[in-house]
Amino acid sequence: MIELASATWEEVRDFLSGGSRIAVLPFGALEQHGPHLPLATDTLQADAVARGLADVLEAALLPAIPLGNTWSNDALPGTVSISADTVTAVCSDVAGSLERAGYALLVVVNGDFGNRLPLQRAAEASAARGGLPVVVLDYPGLVEIGDAVKESPWAAPGLCHADELETSMVLAVAPALVHTDRMAPAYPELPADFGLRQMALAPLSPTGVFGDPRPATAEKGERIIAHVVAESAAVVRRVLTGLGIV
Ligand SMILES: [Zn+2]
Repeated sequence: MIELASATWEEVRDFLSGGSRIAVLPFGALEQHGPHLPLATDTLQADAVARGLADVLEAALLPAIPLGNTWSNDALPGTVSISADTVTAVCSDVAGSLERAGYALLVVVNGDFGNRLPLQRAAEASAARGGLPVVVLDYPGLVEIGDAVKESPWAAPGLCHADELETSMVLAVAPALVHTDRMAPAYPELPADFGLRQMALAPLSPTGVFGDPRPATAEKGERIIAHVVAESAAVVRRVLTGLGIV
């Protein structure tokens, strides 16, 4: 693995001449995560998964994008959202730059729900013009490992926000940023059409929590991250095979 933020250009030149030529980009957000987790939660998680993945793939790790399309939580102070178009443009610009530098594949590790479609649009645009292949990963295997480690119920199927899973992951990667004394469960009543149409999340939960963070542990967080890294690596290997790279 080579970390671009701390590498020199000569080291990257050598990596591109003999390495995997895979780049991994963590795409995060600055978004409310309840009274007990930092606004950078999604960025910290995406960075941890991307770091593990870059290690397994012997890839180049890009610095995490710290902002995302988080309009659904911007009613709470601290959330700073960029538009879907900006997310697409950032990803497209990074892909174009990597393509000119000679990379073979960009893997985006997405840390926030609101980035999903905008990142896929960037991947689609690159494919449509025959550019650098871009694969967007939305934590493959997360629900599966969640079901295995969680002691608390989901607030809604697959909904993971400031809950036991997210709190466990931050406990694993940045424990000093978790205010364990402020952890409190919240199971908001969700509208009948939750998940069927776009809607703001913030008004649904006064504290911003969806679930119960209290059973969270760093050990669970390490298991979650390790599982998502392994599942992500399996996806990328299939893509590499499909592209004829390995
Ligand atoms: Zn989150």
